[in-house]
Amino acid sequence: MPQSRRLVCLLLCVLAVFWSGAALAWCRSTTCKGANCPSDDSGCNTSGKKLWWRGRCAGFSLQANGSVLLPSDKVHAVIDAAFATWSDVDCGGGQRASVTTGPLPDTPCVNNEYDPNGRNVNLVVFRDNAWTFKGTYDNIAKTTVHFDADTGEILDVDMEINSAANWFTLDRKDVEYDLQSVITHEVGHFLGIAHSDQPWAVMYPDYEPGSTAGRTLSGDDIAAVCAAYPPGRAASCDLTPRGGFDTCSGQAAGGCAARPGAPSAVAGAAGIAAAALCLVRRKGKGGSRR
Ligand SMILES: [Zn+2]
Repeated sequence: MPQSRRLVCLLLCVLAVFWSGAALAWCRSTTCKGANCPSDDSGCNTSGKKLWWRGRCAGFSLQANGSVLLPSDKVHAVIDAAFATWSDVDCGGGQRASVTTGPLPDTPCVNNEYDPNGRNVNLVVFRDNAWTFKGTYDNIAKTTVHFDADTGEILDVDMEINSAANWFTLDRKDVEYDLQSVITHEVGHFLGIAHSDQPWAVMYPDYEPGSTAGRTLSGDDIAAVCAAYPPGRAASCDLTPRGGFDTCSGQAAGGCAARPGAPSAVAGAAGIAAAALCLVRRKGKGGSRR
């Protein structure tokens, strides 16, 4: 979206809220999955427990192979910047949202999975060679949140990037699919935030190719993260993934395409569930959703 249009949208949104008292349109992800979950006028799930990180901090790791299509150092910088966008967000008056993220060492782990009895890693992985989510070849990324079905507490998150079907770029010039915009959207899911129906929000599901507007949170996105993680919330800080940092010593390296996207065998275990949220190509001019 052109910056000028984005600014107009933001202005109209602010005015609409001022005049009518209408709520912003952000939504929280919940433990209710599937198309049959009850929802409100904005499409927000109205049943199930909201997803949330118990701690103040969450770590993430890039799969060590990165993408053969992109320079590793720049990819690290872009991913770190995308996560940082959602960290310690200013909720007003200098009050900061009580959640932050931080990078952990790269990992050889390649699988989208959660092990309730072992170590884990919150993974960011490029799928250069294949994208095997059935019926979703036009997705440009997919984030799977593993959570406690009783409480909504997030236990593990794995983010997969469909570099097999999309041409990602890193800079602000000659933009195709702006990796930072895409990852920034996926980090919203990482934190338990669902799609917004506001076109100027980072959490809007459509991505317009060539746009870098999704690098910057809108008021709608800020309201979402501040509601989910209010300032002053009592929470400890530990970047370590659930059960300890998994080094995946038993997994083969070089697995950019190894078992892409397969749901974890343990994801359906008692009390544990997973929800995948993704970005899908927009109809028409080749836009995409996420
Ligand atoms: Zn999404």
